[in-house]
Amino acid sequence: MPNNLNILFAASEVVPFAKTGGLADVAGALPVALEELGHKVKVVMPYYQMVKKSRKSIKDTEKSVLIEINDRIVEGKIYQSKIGKNVTVYLIENEAYYNRQELYRTTEGDYPDNAERYIFFSKAVLEVAKIFKFQPDIVHCNDWQTGLVPVLLKVKEQKNPFFENTASVFTIHNLAYQGLFWHLDMPLTNLPWSIFNQEGIEYYGNINLMKAGIVFSDVVNTVSKKYSKEIQTEEFGCGLEGVLQNRQNDLYGIVNGVDYSQWNPESDKLIKSNFSSSDLNGKKVCREDLLQEFGLKNKPSAPIIGIISRLADQKGFDLLAEQINAILQFDLFLVLLGTGEEKYHVLFKEIAKKYSKKVGIKLTFDNTVAHKIEAGSDIFLMPSQYEPCGLNQMYSLKYGTIPVVRATGGLDDTITNYNPKTGKGNGFKFKPYTGKALLSKIEEAVTVYKSKKDWKKLLVNAFECDFSWNASAREYSKLYLKALEKKSNQPLLVMV
Ligand code: ADP
Repeated sequence: MPNNLNILFAASEVVPFAKTGGLADVAGALPVALEELGHKVKVVMPYYQMVKKSRKSIKDTEKSVLIEINDRIVEGKIYQSKIGKNVTVYLIENEAYYNRQELYRTTEGDYPDNAERYIFFSKAVLEVAKIFKFQPDIVHCNDWQTGLVPVLLKVKEQKNPFFENTASVFTIHNLAYQGLFWHLDMPLTNLPWSIFNQEGIEYYGNINLMKAGIVFSDVVNTVSKKYSKEIQTEEFGCGLEGVLQNRQNDLYGIVNGVDYSQWNPESDKLIKSNFSSSDLNGKKVCREDLLQEFGLKNKPSAPIIGIISRLADQKGFDLLAEQINAILQFDLFLVLLGTGEEKYHVLFKEIAKKYSKKVGIKLTFDNTVAHKIEAGSDIFLMPSQYEPCGLNQMYSLKYGTIPVVRATGGLDDTITNYNPKTGKGNGFKFKPYTGKALLSKIEEAVTVYKSKKDWKKLLVNAFECDFSWNASAREYSKLYLKALEKKSNQPLLVMV
């Protein structure tokens, strides 16, 4: 298999520069894993205010992109940094678009000019390739923020010899966020109205950038096999199930990996004491430290249930809200780190007050605390309504923290229910999306926790799991070849 492709990787957030969720973890790790396989990878992302706070070494390339936005030319300065050994990350700076406190939205809602911000970014991605003469075999786009890139390749650049052999891959990280904008933003794309139809980027009278990516890319994938199937159904398709069914022959699922250089209890610098599967003494120290961090007094018999999450309905907080009083009747601690919907902020503040000896909360985004929770907890809870991949369940396994999950998307693909009779399984998994099912699964986990023999076996099984990026990067290599094959068999798309 040729592992020497030129890959231009476009993402709206990349660890360690800017992160709001799992996309950033993927965009910070997959390019490095691809590089290790022998590919040449360059990443492009916006230069947000958050990037400046990351204090990474970033230098000015002294080059700029000049982007046509309707009847204006907008400049973006190109900065440069790197991840891994030699993966260049290009950061596109435009003060007006990206020098803001948040990436996409404030508590008042989405930034009103998100269409323009990401149309500009998508155009800039291809210009960067031209400026640095990096002729890509693959342009790998991620989520709606880059959904216009495959359209630009197929329409604007279709006859440009520079991109003659360039295929596009579009990865869906979360179908629920689609980049929907009113039709009057269409001139910002400088693309012909002929693509604004049902077969193109139009969606019930609006522009849909997620749909654009799905329709115009050579191949599409999601971040787990299960989710790639689920999104073709009405229940999970978020209105795009028909579009995805149309592309079912080009739709794949590749589970995300874990960046074990960041998430490994043996080397993690953010936790109180390192530990390993063969010496769990450090995990006890981390437990003490975690309880202290959340102002709780240790009670050795009680397992700690950890949660790190966006506080959104997607993550199953409606079930948790329904059952929280019943759950807290068990002998356990609950520690929660998260930000999101106001109603959940209110709820957890109340719960933390009511059960002050058992519940600790931090309603903020804090990477260090996230590591402490992974290390110090016994159980990790992810009762998601849907979950494209989910990363924390995989991080948890590495830290000997047993996941309790709902059987959906990547959670279903990575977690198997523990069976005391056979000693097989790496966690606890429930199927129906009901409070009752959640409660009884937590009860099961807490009961098994009390059996030392079973818990030891569970820990062994958890520690044996390997979700390193290498395997997933190999899958992506194969996917790129499929995209190239697809592209070479396609006639030019003439749309004017
Ligand atoms: P999603 O991308 O849907 O939010 P994922 O499980 O794919 O969910 O990834 C979430 C990532 O964001 C994980 O790395 C998780 O640890 C991190 N994360 C989520 N909320 C917080 C928070 N409040 N503080 C620190 N890290 C968080």
